[in-house]
Amino acid sequence: MATDDPTIVSFTVRDLRWPTSLKNIGSDPMNLAGENALGYLQYHTDTALIGTGWSFSNGQGNEVLCTAIRSLAPRLVGRKLSSLTSNMGETQRQMVSGQIRFMSPERGVLQLATCAVLNAIWDLWAKHERKPLWRLVCDFSPEELVRCIDFRYLTDVVTPDEGIEMLKRLEASKSERLRAALENQAVPAYNTSAGWLGHSDDEIRELLKLAMSQGFKHFKLKAGLGLQSDRKRLGFVREVAGKDAILMVDVNQLWDVDEAIEYMKTLADLDIWFVEEPTSPDDILGHSRIRKALKPYKIGVATGEHVNNRVMFKQMLQAEALDAVQLDALRLCSVNEILSVLLMSAKFGVPVVPHSGGAGMVELCSHISTIDFVAVSGKKSILEYTDHLHEAFAAPAHITEDGYHVTPTVPGYSCEVKEQEFELLEIWTGENNAFGSMARSPESAEIMTMVVS
Ligand SMILES: [Mg+2]
Repeated sequence: MATDDPTIVSFTVRDLRWPTSLKNIGSDPMNLAGENALGYLQYHTDTALIGTGWSFSNGQGNEVLCTAIRSLAPRLVGRKLSSLTSNMGETQRQMVSGQIRFMSPERGVLQLATCAVLNAIWDLWAKHERKPLWRLVCDFSPEELVRCIDFRYLTDVVTPDEGIEMLKRLEASKSERLRAALENQAVPAYNTSAGWLGHSDDEIRELLKLAMSQGFKHFKLKAGLGLQSDRKRLGFVREVAGKDAILMVDVNQLWDVDEAIEYMKTLADLDIWFVEEPTSPDDILGHSRIRKALKPYKIGVATGEHVNNRVMFKQMLQAEALDAVQLDALRLCSVNEILSVLLMSAKFGVPVVPHSGGAGMVELCSHISTIDFVAVSGKKSILEYTDHLHEAFAAPAHITEDGYHVTPTVPGYSCEVKEQEFELLEIWTGENNAFGSMARSPESAEIMTMVVS
């Protein structure tokens, strides 16, 4: 263990954006032209270590995220690392307390910004211990891990003592799972890159062939813009990947509850594991009803990338609304709150399949899924792998030839974007971005023309 104790002395916030809409990356039925963007925070210390954390947006609004980070980040300037990490659950609670709570407690853009701030602390902590984040957490005792969680609002479902008991039960077999993690056999990957809505038929076929050659067995496609088109596109997966491939569809909050049930029933013959985000992410009882109605058709329900906090996940689980918990590493309040959702999911026996469809998310989530497997649920699940923009990151995510995520090895939380990328990624912000969104995609160019004319 390192003996020094870094003090945070200053911070930098950057508005980083990639023109992903040009290649239809991330295109879905509710958002045909998104630009992957990060509100990016660096905490400078009185040592050589920098703590880096960020949160994600889809382009427009990233300036709001950056403003929120600038509002929260000064709270931790002057603090020693150990004063924050000695009780991380309490640190999380402090970050969501005070005057700022009125702005919308533990949800929305403030939640994203708090996540960025705490991600930077987790990154700094792991770098200071010279461990990748997943290893830092997996080396915790059950008591240490539970101390990172703020249990406020959760104790009707899980208490700290129960959490410790759950984790202790897995301790005996932990070394086997740790070995699997070190051999890159902890987290199987599933493919989304073939499934963006903007791809042509030929592009989908080519991307599916590529994904098959990379060892993928699970595929997720965007759907919901028409039964005919969905049947054709899902048919490509069966054509290229065969009947044993596991199929999932994602409709990104498109439908009302009854509409979701009726539409998905008609696709039942395609053998779909789950439909993702069938309706509003806030509609806990709606998800529960959809799941119940689709059960006879053997179609499950998944959601989570827009579920704002542990309380909503608690209710989703209580309402038996989910077959997969798709937590988002940026939407929740950093590793602290993620650990609480991993713990509750393990208690309810629902697999965690994190959302990682945006720039840098695979980098972060490969830590999270490894923690879940080694230390919390003890069970293998799957994790989304998209193949875009890894080259921009200092510790990029990879997959093995047999379709597993490579377990991170670099100390920290894999948050760092390469410095040489900053100039390129900041070019579309500030004055170049006067309309709040980039004007490169056909959709946003149209909006810009309307505003100008
Ligand atoms: Mg999704």
